[in-house]
Formats: sequence, structure tokens, C-alpha cells
Amino acid sequence: MPAEFECSGNPDTALPRLPAVLAAALDAYLAFDASGRVLAWNPAAETTFGYTSAQACSRSVVELIMPPEARAAGRAELAALTSSLPGQKQALRLQRTAWHANGHEVPTEMTITATDEPTGRVFHVFAHDITTTQRASRFAAAEAAVARGLAEAESSTIAAARVVEALGVKMGWPVTELWVVDDDRQLLTCAARYVEPGRRLHDFAVDTVEPGVTLPGRVCADGTAHWITDLGADTKSPRSRAAARIGLRVAVGVPLCAAGRVIGALCVYGDRVEDPEDTLLGLFSGLAAQIGQYVERRRAEELAIELARTKDEFLAMVTHELRNPLAAITGTATLLQEAFDDLTHDEQRHYLRIVTRNAERLSVMADDLLDLARLESGHLAINPTSTDLGAIIRQAVDAAASPAAGKGLTITTQLPEHLELHADPDRLRQVADNLVSNAVKYTPAGGTITITAALDDTGRTITWSVADTGIGIPAAERPRLFRRFYRASSALDRCIPGTGLGLVIARTIIESHQGTITLSDHEGPGATFTIEIPVKPRSERL
Ligand code: ADP
Repeated sequence: MPAEFECSGNPDTALPRLPAVLAAALDAYLAFDASGRVLAWNPAAETTFGYTSAQACSRSVVELIMPPEARAAGRAELAALTSSLPGQKQALRLQRTAWHANGHEVPTEMTITATDEPTGRVFHVFAHDITTTQRASRFAAAEAAVARGLAEAESSTIAAARVVEALGVKMGWPVTELWVVDDDRQLLTCAARYVEPGRRLHDFAVDTVEPGVTLPGRVCADGTAHWITDLGADTKSPRSRAAARIGLRVAVGVPLCAAGRVIGALCVYGDRVEDPEDTLLGLFSGLAAQIGQYVERRRAEELAIELARTKDEFLAMVTHELRNPLAAITGTATLLQEAFDDLTHDEQRHYLRIVTRNAERLSVMADDLLDLARLESGHLAINPTSTDLGAIIRQAVDAAASPAAGKGLTITTQLPEHLELHADPDRLRQVADNLVSNAVKYTPAGGTITITAALDDTGRTITWSVADTGIGIPAAERPRLFRRFYRASSALDRCIPGTGLGLVIARTIIESHQGTITLSDHEGPGATFTIEIPVKPRSERL
């Protein structure tokens, strides 16, 4: 055997001397003897398999470069290979999954040839890492599967599920996720997640995150791709640590954009260490653009359907809420005109009150419609100032006291003496009036209305709730409650008048104060609306 292939017995001190051409080769070169003992190891082999030549020399080639589960078969293969007779020609070309010292697989294309040296037969291996090539062809397959999934999906939910599955299965990512920005709540929601069979996610499986935190949150907040090379070392994010605990090591997220806006993020999680790679990011971003366009097209279609539905609901509302008071006004006015002199003073006053009440109903409706239009187009000014929410709630309760007493309702409040915040007092009064008058309107005689408001422990947020024991809202209808003109079946079935505008206005007002209003899940009868509102909203939004 030529001296240049020799390793000394002490792998730490003696490095094999390689011919210059092998030392400079871009492909990994290694040589081993008939027992599988490594005799030579060039610099490219150090990169491909992660061992220095000093660490590799004299060790078993099977132990060094074969994945643990393939080693038994590898030893048998080696025995077959090395048992050939001297002089017998040997040349093999194969694709093999090799193993890196870091503990990840390396897809390789190898050639094996043998030479007979004075000390015995020597096997020479040239290995070419085909990770990139293999990934490009897998990516092409994933792209085709994504395109097919998008074209054939009947709904955006199905499309999202197909996209993450295609990416996971075709690219070999154990977890892939598609996140979308939820306009209403300023949150990100996981629209679809693929998890490879047998992998359990434990506390990694969250379905909503806030912009700015976790990988999807960071991608959406700054609109750029992020590559986390070591999830375990990403100590800032508890979710990255949860990922590391279930064996995920690397993550990539790219933004989904449509019409110049970030509408979500596509995130993939891998279980082997990989360095950021421009080609992969480029391919990913292309895919994300395709998905972004799809989502935007779907949104436009859904918006058109929503507009048509709003138009129907608007017409239905106008039919009832405009025609009924109008009919009452014209009917009563005609009666007054024809029989004015025959009526007693009390009767005249009674009929005039009917006219006034119905005219007021129409005027409230016109105000609500105008408010909604102005709020939604951003033309209704919100004038924040130092405001006492406690006082506002007490005023709204006083205003509702007489209708509540007329129905035999009890209103109880738990309010601190002062509850200061920076907000528009008139707009908060509008919200308070709407919630309290709804509670009165939708609670049958004898019921109870409970209003509470308090500062939370951090001193930054006020939680305000209005609960009643009334007719409630069927669970299935709750998601639609804050839609313009929407009226729950529980109200319609009982013919309780209303426009379906108050809650939409209330929500728009609360959101312009950077707060949230939600209908809490409810055991038993009644409804509970909860508002969370910051004491000091960030100034740029008010
Ligand atoms: P309106 O009361 O004029 O119809 P809102 O926008 O205030 O309009 O409310 C929308 C719908 O929500 C109502 O029509 C009713 O179906 C339901 N709703 C609101 N508040 C309550 C409540 N406290 N209890 C039961 N249903 C309610």
C-alpha cells in the first residue's frame, strides 16, 4: 500500500498524507482496508461527514458514515465487498444515505473502486453530497403538489391543509404550518398544520400567537424570512424551546403577502441541523407568493359573498325596522287627522306619544347607520381625554333604570368609585348604553343584569363586563354576532325589535381604543359581554 494512504496507529497525532489531487478534491474521498478500517480521509470528507481525518483514521467506515439503523446491513455489505478475490475488478456506483457526526442524514452519491496494494486490498470511495440536488427535485414535487392542492381545493380551509401536507410529505419536514393574520383580533391563527405520523407535539401545538413573538409572529411583524438554525438555543421564545423538546432543531418561516400586505406566514420545522440557504429561501418565498395570491383571490370571493349577504340583511332590517315605525307614524297621524276632535285630551296625548316614540326609533336608526359608516371609513373622530369609566357606566345604568324597572329587572353594579382611563367619554357612553339597553331589551321580566368593571393587577387594562339572565344567543350563532345587521334567532323568534348595528358600532369604538369586546361562552341562560380596554392606549392609534 502506498505510504500516502497510511494512517498511523495513533489517530490523534498522525494524519494521512494525501496526494494533492485528493486533498483538493471537492468530493469526499476516503479509503478503507478489507476490515473496513479507514486509511484515508480528505478535507471534503471532513465537511461531508463531520469528522476530522485524525478522528476518522483507523476507525470502522461503517460506524463513521452509516446511519445507526443501517449499520448491521452495512457490515454485511462490507463483508461481501471485501471478500472478493485479489485482482478481481470492482467498481460500484450507488446512492446512499450517509451519516454526519452531528447526527443527521446526508444523502450521497458514491463510487467505490478497489486497488490491490502490497499490504492488501484498498477500497476507495468518492462521495458527493446530493442534499441540494435532492432537495431541488423534492421541492419541484412539493411545488407541483401545492399548485394542484390550491387549484382543486373547494375551500380555503382545505387548500391550507393541502399546502402544509404537500410541503411536509414531499420535503420531509416533520412539522409545517400555515398562519394567517386575524384582522379583527390582531392575532395570528394557525390555519393548517401538518405533523408527520407518530410525532407528538405536546406544548408546541398552539393555535394562536401574537405578532412579534414566536417564529410566525416574528415573520408577520417584520415581513421578512427568518431562519432559526438551532431552536434549542433560541432562548427568547418558549415555543422554540418547546419545539426543541420534541426533537425539532431548525425552523424556517417566510411571509405570505398579498397586495403589498403581510397576511400570514408559512413555517416549516426540521429535525436536523441545516444552515440558511438562499436557494431554499428563494424557493420558499416563491411558494409563499403563490399561496398569498390564492388567499387574496379567495378573500375577494368571500368578500363578494359577504357583501351580497350584508345587502340582504340590510334589506331585511330596513323592511322591518324602517317600515314598522313608519307604518305606526302614518297610521297614528291619519287617525289623529280624521278623529282629532272626537278624542279626549288623554287619547290625543297617547297617540302623539306613539308618533314621537316611533320617530325617535327612526332617528336612532339613522344615527346608528351614519355612525357606522363614519366609524368604518375612519371619519368619525375619537377624542380621547382623561375619562372616568365608572361614572359613564353609572350614567348608562341611570338612563336604563326606568325601562328596567318597567320590566321588573334588577340591575346590580360592582364598580370602583373612579376608574380613570384615556378615552373618548362620548363614545364609551355609546358602548355602555348599547350593552345596558340590550341587556334590558333581551332579558325577560324578573331577570337580573350585573355590570362590573375593574382595573387588572398590572394596572394597565380595565375589564368591564355586562351580564344578563336573558334569552341569550345560540352558541352556533355567536361568531356572527358582531356582523353588520346580524340579529340572533333568539331575538328574531321573539319579534324583539332591533337593527343589528349597536354591537358593530360598539366593537368599532372599542377597537379604536385598542381594546377588545367579546361574548363570553356561557353556561345557563343569558349573555355576558366582556370588554378589555387599555388605560393608556398607544398614542399613534388614537
Ligand atoms: P339590536 O339589538 O339593535 O338588534 P345589536 O347590534 O345591539 O343590535 O345586537 C345584535 C344582536 O345581538 C341582537 O339583535 C340580538 O340578537 C343579539 N344580542 C345583543 N345583545 C344581546 C343580549 N344581551 N342578549 C341576547 N341577545 C343579544
